[in-house]
Amino acid sequence: MVKIKQITSKFLEIFCPRCKKQKIVFGKSSTKVKCEKCNYLLLKTSGGKSKIRAKVRKVIP
Ligand SMILES: [Zn+2]
Repeated sequence: MVKIKQITSKFLEIFCPRCKKQKIVFGKSSTKVKCEKCNYLLLKTSGGKSKIRAKVRKVIP
């Protein structure tokens, strides 16, 4: 498990904390990302910054 709270310009493999569905997101995404399965907000944006609300399993280099 990797803890990431800050913006990163890498792709992240995250897990939805609600339904455990895996998803690949771009850490510096400027749009919010929702879980396709349960609609949980995985990545939110505020003031041009993104915040990850899911568990990051690994960082894809
Ligand atoms: Zn989900």
